[in-house]
Parts: sequence; structure tokens; C-alpha cells
Amino acid sequence: MADQPYVSETFLDANRQQLRAKCEDCFGLCCVALPFAASVDFAVDKQAGSPCSNLQPDFRCGVHTRLRQLGFRGCTVYDCFGAGQKLSQHTYAGRDWRHAPQYAQQMFDVFPIMWQLHELLWYLTEALTLQAAHSIHATLRAALYETESFTNLDAEALGKLNVAAHRANVNALLLQASELARADAVRLNNSTKGHRKRTSYGRGADLIGAKLHKADLKGANLRGAYLIAADLREADLRWTDLIGADLRDTDLRGANLTTTIFLSQAQLNAAKGDASTQLPPHMNRPAHWTA
Ligand code: SF4
Repeated sequence: MADQPYVSETFLDANRQQLRAKCEDCFGLCCVALPFAASVDFAVDKQAGSPCSNLQPDFRCGVHTRLRQLGFRGCTVYDCFGAGQKLSQHTYAGRDWRHAPQYAQQMFDVFPIMWQLHELLWYLTEALTLQAAHSIHATLRAALYETESFTNLDAEALGKLNVAAHRANVNALLLQASELARADAVRLNNSTKGHRKRTSYGRGADLIGAKLHKADLKGANLRGAYLIAADLREADLRWTDLIGADLRDTDLRGANLTTTIFLSQAQLNAAKGDASTQLPPHMNRPAHWTA
């Protein structure tokens, strides 16, 4: 195992760039298409397809700088993986739902499909950085290109796409990549520190509020784990698979996530951290984390 990515930095940068939300190129699709339920994350209820009352005529958020104070924490956590600008500028070629209302419902219907495809592109890109998964590299790359081709379908074809079946196929590949990388991490760890059993909690493990301060979770399987408000201060999360894990209010201060597998920006945005949290270089330190 090495910390060097298996694919070129240019390839990674280009892919990651197109999978970052560019709200200035989007017609506020997440602020219209998605439903909200009043909760700690959203101050109000909102139906799918109805614009948030804070959305301005220019598709910008009128309370962008005060979202957390006004009870819209969910908006600071959400990440569309660039699906919004892809639909706005590519699929609909710059037509927006206000000026082309005949497309509005269709846009809102296909937005979650594009979101899922972009999320898969993010994970496939990350899987291609795992050198220990080189034996399935060609298959991962083929899956990435197939997923990319789906994102270029027209809206009607997108709406008919069996995205659940595609997700299942890609997820099987991602799991395989994760197994290879985590096994390699544990093998190397054992060779330097003596035998250590790999930590496995199984998919969807209930670790809400768990006391895992300074825990050695290197190479652990925390796929889909509920880590809400867990104490992971100074934990070692290198080569830990966190795909789909719920990190709302998880305390990551001082934790090492430099090579965490399948980490997303939305997970970091939902968690608590500070300047001592060690992140992969391509991830952003959330603005609300304490210094
Ligand atoms: S509060 Fe702002 S970011 Fe959140 S949904 Fe409304 S317009 Fe969008």
C-alpha cells in the first residue's frame, strides 16, 4: 500500500472539480426540487417542487450567510456533487424552471437521479485512488465511464434510467475496492505492529453517541454506520470505510482522516471538527468548524 493515488493527479483533479457544487451555475434546484421537514436541520416544512421562500429571483439564497443561525443547518451540509450545474447547464442547456415552466416538473424529477449518478462518480473516482484495488482498476474505470455516459443522457432518458440497478452494481464494486484497501492496510499495520484483528461493525452499525476517543479504527468497516454525536476525537480513521456513515455532530477534533475511504464533503459538513482534524488534501475544512 502506498499513499500515492493509482491514477494521475490531473485525472483526479478534473473529476473532483466537476463533482463540486457550483451554485452560480445552477438554478437553485436543490432549493426547489427537494422536500424539507421542519426539524433541527430545517426551520420550515417545504414540499418537493415548491421553491424555498429564501430563494431569490436570481436563484441565490437570501440567507446564505446566516443559514445556521436561522435554523437551516441542513442547507450547509447538503452537497449535490455537481448534479445541479450539470442539469442546469448541460441537460437543460441553460433553461431554468422559472422561464421554461413546461420543463419544471421534469427537472425536479430527474434532479435526484442526476444526484445519485454524481455521487457514484465521486465514489468511483475515490476508488481509483486505492492502489491496493489495482486488480479491479479497469472495471472501476469502465463503471465510471458508464456512469458518466448516463449523466449525458437527455432528460427523458434520464427519467427512465434504472438508477437503483446501476447503484447496486457500482456498490458491489466499491465494496470490493474497500475490502482490498482495508485488508492491505491491516496487513501492513500487522507487519509493523504485530497482529491486530480488523475492527468490523457491519453495515449500519449503531454507534450513536459511542465513546471512541483515540480509538484505532484503521482499516475498519464503518459503512453506513450511525455515528451521530459519537466521540471520535483523535481517532485513527485512516483506511476506514465511511461510505454512507451518518456523521451528524460526530466529534472529529484531532482525528486522522487523511486516507479515509469514501469520505464525502457532506459528511464533514455535518460533523464537528477543528484545525487539528487531519483531512485529505482535496477536502475542504468546513467554515463552521472551530479553530
Ligand atoms: S435556505 Fe437558502 S440554501 Fe436553504 S433551501 Fe432555502 S434558499 Fe436554498
